Amino acid sequence: MIGMPVQCDNCKGGFHIDLQHRRLDDSVEETYFTCPYCQTEYPSFYTNTAVREKQRSINQLRERYNGLKNPEKRDSLQERIEREQVEVSVMMTELEMKYKSN
Ligand SMILES: [Zn+2]
Repeated sequence: MIGMPVQCDNCKGGFHIDLQHRRLDDSVEETYFTCPYCQTEYPSFYTNTAVREKQRSINQLRERYNGLKNPEKRDSLQERIEREQVEVSVMMTELEMKYKSN
């Protein structure tokens, strides 16, 4: 993701994304990037404590998955990872709808 070139919708300047974070309220964090030429802000995604905890737990599940040899256990763990990823993306979409317009 870092170093990905994009073009600004506003000034058409080309630049590389440098993700920044800021707190919106108690637990909600916005990840965004800014055009270095015209300072237009582009919101990227939103997380809250629950989302960040779930992302951490998914990372741990992935590590466990990589260490597993038993195909049945791998299958059931993969199902669980996919389920949790869907939950996270639903949570993030809800946050986006709530905060993006503000
Ligand atoms: Zn721009």
